[in-house]
Amino acid sequence: MPQRQPLADTAPAAEPGAVPMFDLQAQYRRLQTEIDRRVAGALAGGAYINGAEIAELEGELARIAGGRHCVACANGTDALMMALMTEGIGPGDAVFVPAFTYVATAGAIRLAGATPVFCDVEANTCNLDAADLERRIARTRARGGPTPRAVVPVDLYGLPADYAAIHAVAEAHGLTVVADAAQSLGARRDGTPAGALAAITTTSFYPTKPLGCAGDGGALFTDDAGRAARWRAMRTHGTDASRAAVHLGMNNRLDTLQAAVLLAKLPGLEAERAHRERLAAIYDAALAGIVDPAPRAPGCESAWALYTIASARRAALQDALAGARIGTAVYYAMPVHLHPAYRHLGEGPGSLPVSERLAGRVLSLPLTAETTPAQVRRVCAVIRQALGG
Ligand SMILES: *Cc1c(COP(=O)(O)O)cnc(C)c1O
Repeated sequence: MPQRQPLADTAPAAEPGAVPMFDLQAQYRRLQTEIDRRVAGALAGGAYINGAEIAELEGELARIAGGRHCVACANGTDALMMALMTEGIGPGDAVFVPAFTYVATAGAIRLAGATPVFCDVEANTCNLDAADLERRIARTRARGGPTPRAVVPVDLYGLPADYAAIHAVAEAHGLTVVADAAQSLGARRDGTPAGALAAITTTSFYPTKPLGCAGDGGALFTDDAGRAARWRAMRTHGTDASRAAVHLGMNNRLDTLQAAVLLAKLPGLEAERAHRERLAAIYDAALAGIVDPAPRAPGCESAWALYTIASARRAALQDALAGARIGTAVYYAMPVHLHPAYRHLGEGPGSLPVSERLAGRVLSLPLTAETTPAQVRRVCAVIRQALGG
């Protein structure tokens, strides 16, 4: 394999002194030799759909994610839809989902025809609160609403949800667990990788995710061969090996070219995660006591998709950081149940208090494989000054 560039310790940001929230061009420059080689190979190969790169990628991903089967697909939203639809979850069914997530998680549930039931999250992890899940299941049953069928925990910011607690509730109520690991590829909980923490796991290769391609992409993981076969059929119009359409299907395959990009980046996944982990430790130490710390949980190695603090003085922080040419982002400024397209499904403001409070306070800071320790220290200095710390 060609020599890989070392992870950034000294690489300059595009604009001198600026600290970008993401820098996909810098990432490409670091990995250019291998990406170009892989992409050129795929272009010359001519198998732009279902090329050999797809099976190679699925094999590598299954190994990393600890699932026996991996099925690549077009994006993380389709992966969630495929997971629900192939379990026969649709109209009349309730699917429990945290309110504090990207709208895609709830959107996939709606697109499958099912009804999302929003649950609150834990303030310290920002992930699904199993006790609230239990309450919402009981309420849904008591009201004679849609039939509880599944729960979609999300590993927000890269931190695995509390699957032991969630599985206990899910098993007691006969719910299927579909883990939305769009942000957590590479993470582990008690040594088990994201991808093997639930019977069904989905992920996304959106460019800024822990493993991003040069466009859209996604994948599903399972240990069940029959389930993987149904996903393979579904992504190709529901057809089997003899090309007969045996199920209703879609076209949501991953492009061979995107698999080529991902294969070039995959060998660096753990080194990049470890780099972000070291940066996160610098943030933690420098910001202790002046902001709410980024989510961590015992036994968890986060994928560190995002480093996200919380503060009542978020607006002042954003202003100060922007003034110092430091990029930030808010994921998510609005919990799903307050978005116009989802409001009719929930119970409005006040119904999911932890999610609503986090939405008003969270702020994500620069944390990429290209971010340097010196840049992190500069970000922390600006924050300390802005908060008078
Ligand atoms: C990115 C993301 C998705 C959707 O993935 P796409 O590939 O963009 O469709 C779903 N859920 C979560 C939590 C995400 O962060």
